[in-house]
Amino acid sequence: MNEVMIGLEVHVQLVNLRTKLFCSCPSDYRGKPPNTNICPICTGMPGTLPSLNKRAVEEALKIAISLGAAPYEKSYFFRKSYFYPDLPKNFQITQYDKAGGYPIAHDGTLELSNGKRVRIERIHMEEDPGRIFYEGGRSGARYALVDYNRSGIALVEIVSSPDMSSADEAREFLDKLIQILNDLGMKVQDFEGSIRCDVNVSYSGGERVEVKNVSGSSQVEKVVLFEVLRQRTLFERGAKVVRETRAWDEKRRITISSRSKEVEAEYRYMPEPDLPALSLGKDAIGLIREKMGGTYGERINELTASGINPEIAKRLARDITLYSVYRKAGSDEQLKSKLASLLVNEVAYAIKNRGVKKLPEDIGGLIEIAKKYDLISDHRHVVELVKLWLAGGHVEVNEGQSKINIESVVKSAIKDNMKKLQGLDDKRKMEVLMGQLVKKYGNANKKQFAAALLKELKLG
Ligand SMILES: [Zn+2]
Repeated sequence: MNEVMIGLEVHVQLVNLRTKLFCSCPSDYRGKPPNTNICPICTGMPGTLPSLNKRAVEEALKIAISLGAAPYEKSYFFRKSYFYPDLPKNFQITQYDKAGGYPIAHDGTLELSNGKRVRIERIHMEEDPGRIFYEGGRSGARYALVDYNRSGIALVEIVSSPDMSSADEAREFLDKLIQILNDLGMKVQDFEGSIRCDVNVSYSGGERVEVKNVSGSSQVEKVVLFEVLRQRTLFERGAKVVRETRAWDEKRRITISSRSKEVEAEYRYMPEPDLPALSLGKDAIGLIREKMGGTYGERINELTASGINPEIAKRLARDITLYSVYRKAGSDEQLKSKLASLLVNEVAYAIKNRGVKKLPEDIGGLIEIAKKYDLISDHRHVVELVKLWLAGGHVEVNEGQSKINIESVVKSAIKDNMKKLQGLDDKRKMEVLMGQLVKKYGNANKKQFAAALLKELKLG
């Protein structure tokens, strides 16, 4: 049987952390002069001790829960030894699933559009190494330069079973995973090199070949297509595929043998003596699960069940930060639905506009705005109030000054859209204008808008 088996090991940088995994260097290393984003810990100086970034653990757990994986209540860090200039300590702190080690989570799944459930074997945390630059290309370089700015950045590695059997499936797996990360607020697509895969391919029961460091789903697809072709050609000639590690040459679109695959014993895995076991306990895991409201699908179900409009529910469920604010609001259903609209409209807008990274803990001011959301239907005024809340100011809602003048708002909407409306029938005109008005001012004045539009467009 000429079966193709593909497994992916996906390394994801936890791009929404402020600091590295074991030290307080900023995790924002991109664009900085070489070797300026470092400290004695992430360069592995003698006598230094790592201390674990708690938020990294939380983010890793969120990924695990979203993939339906089960966290271990106790997991451990190990040293993986290898000698390479990008690794100043000569070992990488990672997690291990043998020799008494447990990674942070195990046994998840990711479902593809054809219904196939790709198993996730394990999820573990580890540190990123530094980067090496070969002056004038790898083969002809007279010297190499090393930059440790990336050294110690928090990574989560997601290891799938070899359940995929085509380039399309491998591509979709990675796309879906990126979508899940997005839902968690980890916008990996905005950070070059933040997601890197090792692609394992075997053909017709032959040896497994690992292609290292492939970035992005379209590259993964190309790697699989090339490897299957290469291995099938060897197979048909009666030659053997060797178990090895290969590198992907993006320019020439081929894989190149880089070294024979290490056997695990060469890495001399040993428990990291400088870090205690990572004890999560049922409470900690439950707390995270509670905070994130389960998976994306579970969040949507919960939102629509409490009467939130499905479109708003989708947008709110996508954004874990806004969603967790929503969860703090208590049980008043009416308030919840107003708060949901406020969050996905004005709050999302204000956050995007101001590049806000962290929301205030106290949501009292926001609740105050939500309570009077219908009364202050002037969109700009709501945004002003939200900005005040984001800046930590005292929010007081003055209803009187914020009533909008329906007639003038409708007139200016018609005026602003003159061009767009040309050639449209009456029904479409109404739809276009209503759409814009509701988007800008919310649902509260829908009826008045419709009446005023009919009058102004002389359709009534
Ligand atoms: Zn550091």
